Amino acid sequence: MRLIDADKFERYLMFYAGRWESLQDVIYALRDFETLNAQPVVHGHWVKNKPNPKIMQEFHKQKIGLAMGENSIYWTCSKCGYWGTPIYKYCSHCGAKMDEKNDSNGNWIYQSLDEVIDSAD
Ligand SMILES: [Zn+2]
Repeated sequence: MRLIDADKFERYLMFYAGRWESLQDVIYALRDFETLNAQPVVHGHWVKNKPNPKIMQEFHKQKIGLAMGENSIYWTCSKCGYWGTPIYKYCSHCGAKMDEKNDSNGNWIYQSLDEVIDSAD
């Protein structure tokens, strides 16, 4: 997959508007257009953990969750296991986007726009 800045490509097309004689010209321009340096989005969810004094002591050693008692529940990222808080939309450690949802079978899923469109057919 090649990702481009569509707004920038549109400006490019408009700037050189007189140059394009056919759709083929535009396709060649698109092929030569610079691509973006991007990474796929990782999807995850917050995991609610039962109190575990040993793990909480480890977090406290790292200066994490100091306001929480050793017998408190705690939340971790489903992708990397790092400490988190469900109010955040991203894991501060691995960057996972916390948008996975539970499906009817209890599985954690992320449904992309493509999957939503396919399921509507
Ligand atoms: Zn994470």
